[in-house]
Amino acid sequence: MADSSTTVSPTTTPEAVLATARRMLAEGLVEGTAGNISGRLPDGLVCVTPSSVPYDTMTLDDLVVVDLDGTVVEGARPPTTEKDLHLATLRRYPELGAVIHTHAVYATMFALAHEPIPAVIEEVVVYLGGDVPCCEYRGTGTPDLGEEVAGRLGDRSAALLANHGLVTCGYSPEKALRNAALAERTAKIVWGARTMGAEIHLLPDKVNRDMAGAYRWMRENP
Ligand SMILES: [Zn+2]
Repeated sequence: MADSSTTVSPTTTPEAVLATARRMLAEGLVEGTAGNISGRLPDGLVCVTPSSVPYDTMTLDDLVVVDLDGTVVEGARPPTTEKDLHLATLRRYPELGAVIHTHAVYATMFALAHEPIPAVIEEVVVYLGGDVPCCEYRGTGTPDLGEEVAGRLGDRSAALLANHGLVTCGYSPEKALRNAALAERTAKIVWGARTMGAEIHLLPDKVNRDMAGAYRWMRENP
């Protein structure tokens, strides 16, 4: 984890949060009103998507600004009911600027099995930090789930929510979205290889060790 006393946190804009929310829908990572996005703003507050508004009709006025403890500062709508997992992550890791939660289908299959998505492809190690671990089950929308998720994201940019879905983080909403797409694509590839009857071979440990520095750089830079 970066030293919070010296880290200048990355920030984003409501426009980027909204654009990423729409891309999340377009890329098939969510359906309807499921999933949510947060982005850290320059004043230290956090822009989050609202509860129960379809992405295709969502506007900037629908977004909600909260402080890091979840108190609404701006916006007419209630914030996402999953705000705790966003805020717990942004509170703990000042080097991060955005968090995304989706119900991506293949990743969620691993979440039902309580099984990590294995780090079988080098880009997973570089962008996500290694395998995608599965959090212990905690109730949806609870502070307990937020703390459980945040605890898994110290050296990873993706984690599975047991029996629920996927959460990813990044320097910006765009990078958090790319990480979600990569986790989903990897889950699909592993599922497909297993369906072929193939034995899955993990990358050599040396790859994980050698790429740890590259991951840290990717996490902390635009
Ligand atoms: Zn969810």
